[in-house]
Amino acid sequence: MIDSEKYASATVTARRDFAPDLWVIRIKPEIELAFRPGQYVTIGLPRDGRIVERPYSICSAPTEPEIELFIERVPEGELSKPLFELGVGAEMVVRKRTKGLFLRDAPVEAQPHMFVATVTGIAPFVSLLRTLADRARAGEWSPAPVVALQGASRSEELGYADEMTQLDAEFPWFTYVPTVSRPWDDPGWTGELGRVEDVVRKYADELQMRTGYGGVFLCGHPGMIANARGIMKRRGFNDKEIREEQYWPD
Ligand SMILES: Cc1cc2nc3c(=O)[nH]c(=O)nc-3n(C[C@H](O)[C@H](O)[C@H](O)COP(=O)(O)OP(=O)(O)OC[C@H]3O[C@@H](n4cnc5c(N)ncnc54)[C@H](O)[C@@H]3O)c2cc1C
Repeated sequence: MIDSEKYASATVTARRDFAPDLWVIRIKPEIELAFRPGQYVTIGLPRDGRIVERPYSICSAPTEPEIELFIERVPEGELSKPLFELGVGAEMVVRKRTKGLFLRDAPVEAQPHMFVATVTGIAPFVSLLRTLADRARAGEWSPAPVVALQGASRSEELGYADEMTQLDAEFPWFTYVPTVSRPWDDPGWTGELGRVEDVVRKYADELQMRTGYGGVFLCGHPGMIANARGIMKRRGFNDKEIREEQYWPD
């Protein structure tokens, strides 16, 4: 029996697959779920008389009618494996409250931003960028430079690369930098090479970021977060100036 105080049901309305273990779904909860860019929704599936549930950062903007999620299937993952089996029309449960403080300080007015993501870690930034793009188009946001760095093993894993590239072309204040760490598996790749933390220093230099000037937001793989935090701290940033959303424990 599902606790209707805590959970609502949601239906998968669309699905887009990228690489073999990476896909985007849109879900329509039966209730309205309010959230800010950077927050996550907890979704679950009933298994053996209990709900198996995990948090997922929301990619959609708060103004969109559905919730969009970018998910990686983890080998033998208790939830991501059965989630991967769900097609359009399938049902799941969602916690009625969205949560998270990750991007509550963004955008930092009149300061440059560096968003750093590993693969699905781009999700909260997509939500914020869709929101900022709408505000910029309406003339409500005075742009400061925003650079989004996204790392992956191969370019096929760079979900949202097309959308990010289009925003980059539309807005002079936005730059999208994808990087690939296994170029030997990706012979056609001509962009940045290496893990995403390998290019953090270069773009922090370009943005002239220094303590007191610049917002640093890191999301995804715990190893990347530790490495990028170390790079920014050696640049003089303090812990409070580096915001993080770590997707699983070290
Ligand atoms: C705030 C927050 C937001 C998140 N947002 C997203 C998101 O947008 N998209 C997304 O795919 N995941 C996201 N996650 C991770 C997600 O909640 C699950 O942990 C993930 O889907 C694995 O769950 P599982 O039940 O399949 O695996 P489990 O059975 O719980 O875990 C198996 C093990 O796999 C490891 N693991 C977990 N995730 C990964 C991974 N991606 N790559 C490699 N190893 C991993 C962990 O060490 C874990 O012990 C987020 C996590 C947090 C805390």
